[in-house]
Amino acid sequence: MMNESDLEIPEGKSVAQLERLIEISRSLNSTLELRPLLQRIARAAQQLTDTEESSILLLDRKTGQLHFEAATNLPGIRSIVVPMEGSIAGLVVQTSKPVVVPDARSDPHFYRQADEQSDFSTRSILAVPMVVRGNVIGVLEALNKRSGGEFMREDVEMLTVLGGQAAVAVQNALLFQQSDLVAEIVHEMRTPLMSVIGYAELIQQPGMTLEQCQQFAGIVEGEAERLTGLADSFLDLAKLESGRASLACAPVDLSTVIHMAVSVLTPQANARQVGLSVNIIDDLPPVVGDGQRLHQAMLNLIGNGIKYCGSGDHVAVTAKREGDVLVVSVADTGPGIPADALPRIFERFYRVPDSECQAVGSGLGLTITHKIVEAHGGEISVSSEEGEGTTFTFTLPLEGAAGDA
Ligand code: ADP
Repeated sequence: MMNESDLEIPEGKSVAQLERLIEISRSLNSTLELRPLLQRIARAAQQLTDTEESSILLLDRKTGQLHFEAATNLPGIRSIVVPMEGSIAGLVVQTSKPVVVPDARSDPHFYRQADEQSDFSTRSILAVPMVVRGNVIGVLEALNKRSGGEFMREDVEMLTVLGGQAAVAVQNALLFQQSDLVAEIVHEMRTPLMSVIGYAELIQQPGMTLEQCQQFAGIVEGEAERLTGLADSFLDLAKLESGRASLACAPVDLSTVIHMAVSVLTPQANARQVGLSVNIIDDLPPVVGDGQRLHQAMLNLIGNGIKYCGSGDHVAVTAKREGDVLVVSVADTGPGIPADALPRIFERFYRVPDSECQAVGSGLGLTITHKIVEAHGGEISVSSEEGEGTTFTFTLPLEGAAGDA
């Protein structure tokens, strides 16, 4: 292993590589969207170092753990969490220095589980800190120098420069996401807050009957509950969007998750006279992920089915294995979603016009569900026919499968 202090700055860098760095730097600063940005950084790191794979880990300051957020060829890597102690990335964060590991398998700091969970075979690693104003926010890694070669000093130097530039771009994207979200949060909270204030004032007017006071107090209570629900959703979304969400990473039995969600929602379905059925095909192998978040995703999808269906309608939950993934669908016989609304359905705060008359909502449930599925390395889609019903389908990569989550 060698670190930065061992390095001598090479006499001259190739002009082509310098040009490439400038070009990359420009392109990094041209986007404030976190996911595409991370993907761009990983690709650039892989090209610059001529390696088989590159990945980015971001530091969660609260837990002190590192989360894989992007990789060039391993889409499922995003659910893998790496500890600070006993990992190369942890060492980079603690020392704030680049680390070169010529033979990963024989290095005591190498965190083997990442290989096992991602189905990748790491031979050599070059890992550099992503530093903004003296703070390490993450680690940029290049893995397996192509054609079995070794990492050269020039690789270390190039990746260090890229790591620094990438860190600033990532920090900007994180801040932008936050400020954007804050503006939307304030906007969305204003409506219920206005009615809380309005009705609270009304209650205090002289001449109000007890009946009126009770009615208005009921509205205030309902709006306050809605605000609490909004606050919870905002927190969830803020964490998921900023990449700070610490997804638990353990084997999860999806069948249990589905049955739990169904039993929570059965009283609601009964009250609305909506049928609810579960069909789990085969013995489902476990997925690696966060049981609580997957429970939340199931609650959102099944809850929507019940919420938007009317008396006599039906919501059917199906789960099965298809090759390397589990496929879960929630199909209802409700009103359906108009074709022109479908492309916007996962956008935050989006509600189909007139939904307000059908059911209370924030337009955040599907956004959160989408993020949860994505964070597990899966995909979610919707198909719907007006007057016929709606089906949401999502996939989750299986443990040990290629591109595993
Ligand atoms: P919310 O239900 O809180 O409004 P969601 O993000 O869960 O927010 O859903 C966004 C919108 O998508 C809803 O407002 C509704 O218009 C539409 N929608 C979601 N699920 C269904 C469904 N099963 N059937 C019909 N419309 C739906």
